[in-house]
Amino acid sequence: MLSIKNLYVSIEGKEILKGINLEIKPGEIHAIMGPNGSGKSTLANVLAGKEEYEVTEGEITFMGEDLLEMAPEERALKGVFMSFQYPVEIPGVPMVNFLKTAVNELRKYRGEEELTAGEFLKLMREKKELVELDTQLTNRSVNEGFSGGEKKKNEIFQMALLEPKLSILDETDSGLDIDALKRVAHGVNALRNPENATIVVTHYQRLLEYIVPDFVHVLYQGKIVKSSGKELAFELEEKGYDWIKQENGL
Ligand code: ADP
Ligand code: MG
Ligand code: MG
Repeated sequence: MLSIKNLYVSIEGKEILKGINLEIKPGEIHAIMGPNGSGKSTLANVLAGKEEYEVTEGEITFMGEDLLEMAPEERALKGVFMSFQYPVEIPGVPMVNFLKTAVNELRKYRGEEELTAGEFLKLMREKKELVELDTQLTNRSVNEGFSGGEKKKNEIFQMALLEPKLSILDETDSGLDIDALKRVAHGVNALRNPENATIVVTHYQRLLEYIVPDFVHVLYQGKIVKSSGKELAFELEEKGYDWIKQENGL
């Protein structure tokens, strides 16, 4: 599904990612862990197509196509979804309109019939339950005045509506209390199927107790310095990141 080869990325002339290689197959969950500033969000943003990053070397293939050639909208239509570390508020744009437009644009792109207002509301009710999103929130502007937890739940709610192929969750756990964390994890797990894949970016192991990854990769100073199974997350929790640095002579 996703193949990243020898990826180098700079921002404002500073090299952040230094030769990333990553292969993700349908049905898999990959966790990207690592200390602050190691380049996790940079990697996530480059996949989503955020513009200020400069790819200086390497390639990314998504479903057999060159992802780097695609505009962010095209990536979204083809099934790349990004849940932001800091979801933006969009005052004046009601959630219902925003989401209905997104869902129907996607359906048009796939050659499917657009949903009527009634059909969309029904779909929204169904998906809202998945993350137990407060019913009132969908009557408000996108994320405006939402609590941290509500914003993160809202990201997963959007993911549920859009049914992406590749979801990238950037620190969806940050700022969540344990109940919201479980809700978010429940939503992600419920959406998992053999045809989609998820990248979970986090620097804590806690989320990975609930969203169990198939692979854990440690990103450090712009490089993946270690990849292993889910047990690596527990090892990191116990020992911190210092042993990884020592093992790699960093
Ligand atoms: P992480 O998500 O792992 O904490 P980031 O990808 O956010 O790391 O950041 C990696 C490095 O890139 C940091 O040193 C950060 O300061 C730098 N960086 C990220 N975004 C920008 C930007 N827009 N302008 C300048 N430097 C940036
Ligand atoms: Mg960070
Ligand atoms: Mg980050």
